[in-house]
Amino acid sequence: MERQKTAMVKVLGCKVNQAEAAAMARILEKKGYVVHGEIPEPDLIVVNTCCVTASAEGKSRRMVKQLAERHPAASIIVTGCLAEINPLPLRSSHSQLIILGTADKDRFADFVSEASIDPLCPIETRSQSPGEFGDLGPAVIAGRSRAFLKVQDGCSQGCSYCIVPKARGKSRSLPPHRTISHALELEESGCAEIVLTGVHLGRYGVDLTPRTSLEELIERLLSACEHARFRFSSVEPQEITDALVRLAAENPRVCRHFHIPLQSGDDAILQRMGRPYRASLVVDLADRIRERSEATCIGLDVMVGFPGEDERSFAATHSLIERIEPAYLHVFPFSPRPGTPATSFHPKVSQDQLRQRVEELRTLSADLRRRFFKSLLGMTLYVVSEKSWNDSDKILIARSDNYVPVRVRVPPNTPQQPIFSVKLETIVDEEVWGTAVAGSP
Ligand code: SF4
Repeated sequence: MERQKTAMVKVLGCKVNQAEAAAMARILEKKGYVVHGEIPEPDLIVVNTCCVTASAEGKSRRMVKQLAERHPAASIIVTGCLAEINPLPLRSSHSQLIILGTADKDRFADFVSEASIDPLCPIETRSQSPGEFGDLGPAVIAGRSRAFLKVQDGCSQGCSYCIVPKARGKSRSLPPHRTISHALELEESGCAEIVLTGVHLGRYGVDLTPRTSLEELIERLLSACEHARFRFSSVEPQEITDALVRLAAENPRVCRHFHIPLQSGDDAILQRMGRPYRASLVVDLADRIRERSEATCIGLDVMVGFPGEDERSFAATHSLIERIEPAYLHVFPFSPRPGTPATSFHPKVSQDQLRQRVEELRTLSADLRRRFFKSLLGMTLYVVSEKSWNDSDKILIARSDNYVPVRVRVPPNTPQQPIFSVKLETIVDEEVWGTAVAGSP
């Protein structure tokens, strides 16, 4: 009997990279590969790299090198942002290396056909100007009830610290009819929550003819799909419209969760970052979101230690966060990314100060998370189990629409539903516990 080919798919970086990696794994499975996270002697390894910061680039490079040393007989496909931005140093890692730049990543399926993986003929392709949206298809993962769906790629904004527009090209969108067909496929495969992802998701539809928008897309998805609920990943604050806020507050199949890249609470720093809004806009936005639904989860990305951030501007960020009172923070220390304008900005923040500020905000984030969880006790929320469940399950790990991970006690004879209700009861060791109750959206 012929041995089945095996493949490992590795990924670093953002949710868009993760959505792409899951879609690539599915393409490989369709081509007859058995795909796992770890395989002793894989035939093929795919690495979807990241280069958003110098340290992410280093991690990606080390990962490729280590995999090449550990698996000398495997073919390795390196793709993602680093493969586009700086592929040359990767070449020396391995003799059977195929480097796929951003545009060619979209033709991943062609490259994994047997004829393309030819160890005698390493391929290196890149393209600085990917034009079309690269549709790798939906990322259906057996047994998983939540999936990412990439509906937008690239960015035309040009923040001074960010390499992404160079790596991924200009903003472009997956047309609604194709998005709907992928969403239906995900729903049919048992997926109860679809996370719409993009590099600059708020620009969804601006490039399409006829022009459309994220809220219009969500409306169409809600009509086309019967059960699935929708979450959107990070959206720029100036692009969160009233219509989007209303949808999240009023439709139980749209998650009450806004992940907002605030970056700084100081207007002068925002301006140096090239961010096109004032800090007060995010405060107003958070108020508008909360006016409609108190229990909405607001998360913030904050970049600490940007050149020029002094004690006063850091304090402004800290107090703005306290004023907004989000449910959590993602805190990123600034790390100069070669090839971006901010690399040459001064004055630099010392490493000691940077560490202190990161630590301070991470402590604040843990406290905000506790406060948010506590404010929800006694409420009944709609949740989706992280994996499909069976009759013997007594405790499930689930995710609420407002992004709370919940340990759910399941009373005997509870009917299995993709989305179900849970009454939140206690917090034990920082974890929220609740019990499944009758009723679904
Ligand atoms: S909006 Fe700014 S930070 Fe986000 S991908 Fe575009 S350039 Fe980078």
